[in-house]
Parts: sequence; structure tokens; C-alpha cells
Amino acid sequence: MAFLYLHTLIDQIPGLLPVKADMLKKSLGLFTVGDVISHYPYKYIDKSKVYGVNEINENVSFIQLSGIIEDIRIEGEGYKKRLVAEFEDQTGSIQLVWFQSIEWHKKRLISGKQYLVFGKPNKFGNKYSITHPEVKQILSDQEIELSGFQPIYTTSETMKKRGMDSQGMHKLITHCLQLLDSSEKMEYLPDTILKQNNLLSLPKAMEWIHSPKDQSQIIAAQYRIKFEEFFRIQFQLQQSLNYRKTKLKGYVFSKIDEYFDRFYKNHLPFELTNAQKRVLKDIRKDVLSGGQMNRLVQGDVGSGKTIVALMCMLMGIDNEFQACMMAPTEILAKQHFEGLSNLLAPLGLNVMLLTGSVPAKQKKVILNDLLHGQIDILIGTHALIEEPVVFKNLGIAVIDEQHRFGVAQRASLWKKNTYPPHILVMTATPIPRTLAMTLYGDLDYSVIDELPPGRKPIATKHVFFAKRNQLMAFLKEEIAKGFQVYIVYPLIAESEKMDLKNLEDGFQEALEEFPAPKYSVCMVHGKMKNADKNAEMQRFVSGEAQILVSTTVIEVGVNVPNATIMVIMNAERFGLSQLHQLRGRVGRGGDQSYCFLMTDYNLNLDGRKRMEIMTSTSDGFVIAEADLKMRGPGDISGTRQSGDIQLKLANISQDAPILQQAQQLSKKIVEEDPELQMEQFKPLKHFIEKLKKQSQRWGKIS
Ligand code: ADP
Ligand code: MG
Repeated sequence: MAFLYLHTLIDQIPGLLPVKADMLKKSLGLFTVGDVISHYPYKYIDKSKVYGVNEINENVSFIQLSGIIEDIRIEGEGYKKRLVAEFEDQTGSIQLVWFQSIEWHKKRLISGKQYLVFGKPNKFGNKYSITHPEVKQILSDQEIELSGFQPIYTTSETMKKRGMDSQGMHKLITHCLQLLDSSEKMEYLPDTILKQNNLLSLPKAMEWIHSPKDQSQIIAAQYRIKFEEFFRIQFQLQQSLNYRKTKLKGYVFSKIDEYFDRFYKNHLPFELTNAQKRVLKDIRKDVLSGGQMNRLVQGDVGSGKTIVALMCMLMGIDNEFQACMMAPTEILAKQHFEGLSNLLAPLGLNVMLLTGSVPAKQKKVILNDLLHGQIDILIGTHALIEEPVVFKNLGIAVIDEQHRFGVAQRASLWKKNTYPPHILVMTATPIPRTLAMTLYGDLDYSVIDELPPGRKPIATKHVFFAKRNQLMAFLKEEIAKGFQVYIVYPLIAESEKMDLKNLEDGFQEALEEFPAPKYSVCMVHGKMKNADKNAEMQRFVSGEAQILVSTTVIEVGVNVPNATIMVIMNAERFGLSQLHQLRGRVGRGGDQSYCFLMTDYNLNLDGRKRMEIMTSTSDGFVIAEADLKMRGPGDISGTRQSGDIQLKLANISQDAPILQQAQQLSKKIVEEDPELQMEQFKPLKHFIEKLKKQSQRWGKIS
């Protein structure tokens, strides 16, 4: 019989009917044998025995208990309303909780009676509870039927109808595991390493995850598979980091005695914060190292990344290189151009702006000057990385708000000179540490974790639409004091036309609320012609218009210190990171700023949670961490294409210790034997080569 390989298409699995193969593809997206065997159970029903409350710990998934239910009562109000009951067996007690069908459950539960309870314990503080358990009244333990250990797999309704239910899936998977060619069932890590790291072998883990005999097998198998998912990413990142550090040559910026020094001594508009100084030191070390800098600087909105970028570019210019800075939007590029031109005016450097809307004739002049080294700093949008843009000698490229750029776009900057130029990537979207390790493990990493002095915290309030009039009155008071207001509408993906209508209605409303000539309202959205957009934006930046109605085009980077109020309409439609970004548009001067999150009364739990988080903290890292927990890594600010993080079992926010272990081990192996030439690493080498062949280029980013 033919053996199966991981890449074998499921159509070739012996005995699998074509209709079933089709269902697996359509319903579950399983195309290869590898896909099938890594379709892991999402839970296990352990009815092999009755456990005691004292056996509950963090590793237990679903558990069966038998004991008495008492003290059944309703707690909380509104969306927090819940039914709570105490459950007690001979070994201890926990709470049972219901959020739905509260009255129904209350009627059917009888205090003081014995129940068989089945569910997943969760820890709140240091007490466990089970939410929405299965409960069945029993008269005595004799009645309990034990039905063993059952892995439960995701399937679809159509699949179930065709006999491909959870059990069918399990059969298919074990069938595949049996037929798998032995070359696919090898462990690629040496025994000693497995032992040192307390890891189960991979073939064993695959067997146990699908057909465990007890809880401890599940735990060991899940751990190893999570480790494996992190390891394959980490190992490649560490390899490419090691390659860049040891093999790749970079330009050395040894001099800083001309422009950098002059600027630092005479023209710096403020004292740098300690965090800014620290990051500059990190950068300085990189550009002196002889290798290529590839550094990510994370700093919350308003932490002052621009000045760091500027000084970094000056280091390059002092060494007769050119510099460039790429921003994700035209508005932002223009703002950087103006800001930096002002700051650099006394130094006599030639700073130019290149965006899609620069007329062809002018563009030709810019390109020519660039090629002949007459431009020192080129600022622009992604127009910078297009083919015809050729530098005489590019030494440093800054990428602002990197999450807006794709990997390929960033990579093309590498080719703009003989050696790859130094790359400084800046982001205001705080990324939780674990996610950064996974996404940017091959970059060096600095954080500006301090805001410039004198900033007042932004007062953030959740306001219901019903209170709109009061809010408008408040806006008028603030405008009377000379401040400006942003009113932001969400993009609702349903239809672009509708979005625009929403925004235009909002604009009309604002015009009525704030009539001319006393007030002036402007509007910006993504569908406008660039020239119009810039003109409208300019009216706001100059202070002529007091109110800007817009979509999220203003999300990133825009700096109008006099604008102190941010009103976000339908705030529940925005993700946490986006809300945080939007809020960051205000609070940029010394004045008290406000952010109003407008919603209906009618909010789902998720929306409410987001409002609570936004009103309770302004720490970007806390918000990012919460965002990661709520949405998972795929959606977070589209950092890399979400498909790049292929984690089936591992969870970046919950499995941080496993991630760390995988990173440490990768680092150790790469340092010990970067080319994997030792005998013991042969299988690993083979495995990684195979991975690289299949997968995206994990290595080079930026
Ligand atoms: P971001 O990190 O969001 O890009 P910016 O670089 O735009 O922040 O800086 C935000 C504002 O803070 C700007 O007006 C800038 O001039 C000011 N700023 C930056 N660094 C300092 C500092 N050390 N002291 C005072 N103001 C600063
Ligand atoms: Mg910025």
C-alpha cells in the first residue's frame, strides 16, 4: 500500500470517498494529510471517571464532578446578571454560573440535591468556577455511567449528516497517522534536548493528542505541539537574525560631528526624554557595528518618535549618505516633510517630498537630483520604493507606522544600495511582547516608554447617543476657548456607499449644529481626491476650521496640538488598537484633552468591554494586550499578513512561557551551530529546509 506524506492531498487517502474529501476541503479547509492530522480536538470529554473538586487545576480542561448543589441565587444586574450556585463534594467546593436562560435554570435546579456536573473550570482570582455546566440530577453515584475519554473535533452540519461527525473525524485522523510514511514520523530534535526541555517526542505527541488515555497525556501532548508551533517560527527568526548579525555587511556611520552635533547642540527644540536618549544610543551602536541595523522602535502615540528618526537620519548624512523616510499616507508624509523641513532649516540640508500626487515634471527633477546626490533627505509615501527611485547613496531608511506596509514593500528598500541600508522601523501600535517576539523576532527592538513631560492624561468618557446634546454644548464651550474638534465615523464594511452616506450625514449634522459663519467645519475621507483632501486637512491644521469630520484617515500620525477633543461615533465598531490610535490624535499639546466614545445603549458584551478598557487606561501596552486577548493575533493591526502566524493550538497571549522556551532553545542551537552541521542536528536541518521550501519568506522583513 502506498504510504502517505504530509503533503499528500486528501483525495489520495485510501478509503476516503470523494464527497467526504470535498466536505473536508470546503467546510474545514483541510487539503493535505498534514492538515488532517493537525486538525486537533478542541476539547476532550473525560467521562472516564468522576473527579474531585480538589483535583481541579490550571491544566484540567473538562471535568466530571458529583456532589450537592446549594444556595442558588441571582447576582448582578443588566448584562452582568447571572445565576450562581454553590457546588460541593467531599473534597471541596466551587461555584456554578449561568449567564443565559437564568430563570429556566433557576427553576430546574433544586437546592440540596445531588448532581452530576460536567464542564470546564475557569479561574477567577484564586477561585474556580464552571460557567454553563451540564448538570444532571442523580440519586446516587451508582447511577453514573462512565463513557470513557472522547476527543471532540470541529465539524460542520453537512459533515455530520454525511457521517463525518467528531467520531468520523477521529477515525480518519488515526487512519492517516497509521498510514503516514515513517520518514514523516521522525523526531527532529535530539533526545538530550527533549529531555533537558521536558518535551515529549513529536510522534508520541501526535498520538496522544488525538487518542489520549488520561489528562496527563493531553497536557504533555498539547505542550509539545504548542512548543513545536512556536519553535518552527522562532528557529527561522533566530537563524535569520544570526545571519544578519554575522554575515551581512552594513555601512558604518562613524562620524557625528557635523549635522548631528550641530542639531543636537543648537537646534533641538526641547530636551530629549531619557527614553528617546536610550533609543538613540541603541541606534548609534547598530550603525557603528559594521552590520546592518534593522531596528523596530515602539513608542506610544505622542512619545516623540519623529525626532529620534530625524537624528538617526542625520547620523547617515554626516557620513555622506542619503536618508529617506516613508510614511503610510500622503497627509502624514506631508506633515513629516513640513515638520522636518522646519527643524532642519538652520542646517541647510536639502529635504524633498515625493508622493503619488507630485506632478510628473517635478517628479523628474526630484529623481534626477536624488540620483546625483543633491537631495539629502527624501520623505514620501510608498512612492519611495518604486523602481525609478534611485538614490546616489542611500544609507538609512526610516519607515513610520510600519504596520501599514506589507513585507514585500519593506523588503524592496533593502535593494536601494550596494549593501542594504540601515532600517529603522517605527510603530505607535504597541505590540504585546509575545506578539513582537513572534512577528519581529528577527528585528532588534527598542521601546520609548516615556511621554514628553507636561502631558495631561486624556479624559476619556463613554457617552450614549441620547446625551448628544449635552456633548454638543460642551464642544461649543471648548471651541469658544479656541480649541478644535475631531469627529470620526467608522468605516462599516457593508458597503462603501453607505459608509460615505454615514459620513456625509454626519457632516450635514455638524454643519447644522455648528453653523457658519460662526463656525467652520471641514471633512476628510479616503475616497476624496488627494488635492481636496489636502486642502480640507490644511483648513483644519491652520486652525481656520474648528471641526474636522472624518473617517479613520486621520488615525495615524496627524499632529494638530490645538485639537483637544476627539469624538468617535459608533465607537463600538472600532477595535481597541484603532480607538487608541484615534485617541492619540488629541492630547498632543499642554492643554486638557478629551475623548468621547459615542455608542447606543444597545451594546454587546465585547463592545462594552472595549469601552471599559478605553475609559480605564491610556497605556498602549495594556490596551494592546487586551486586544490580543480579545481578538487573537491575526487581526491585530495587520502587522504581518495574519496567515504568517500559523498557530493551531498555541495561543500567543496565553502560552507565553512556552513561546519563551522555544525562543531560548532556538537561540541556543543557532549560536552553537548556525549552519546545523553537527550530526545531532541533521534531522532538524532537514526539517527546516523543508519548511523553508513551503513557507513564506519569514526571514527578511523591512
Ligand atoms: P509620535 O511618537 O506619535 O510620532 P511625535 O514625534 O509626533 O510623536 O511627537 C509628538 C509631539 O511631541 C510633537 O509635537 C513633538 O514635537 C513633541 N515632542 C517630542 N519629543 C519631545 C520632548 N522630548 N519634549 C517635549 N516635546 C516633545
Ligand atoms: Mg509619528
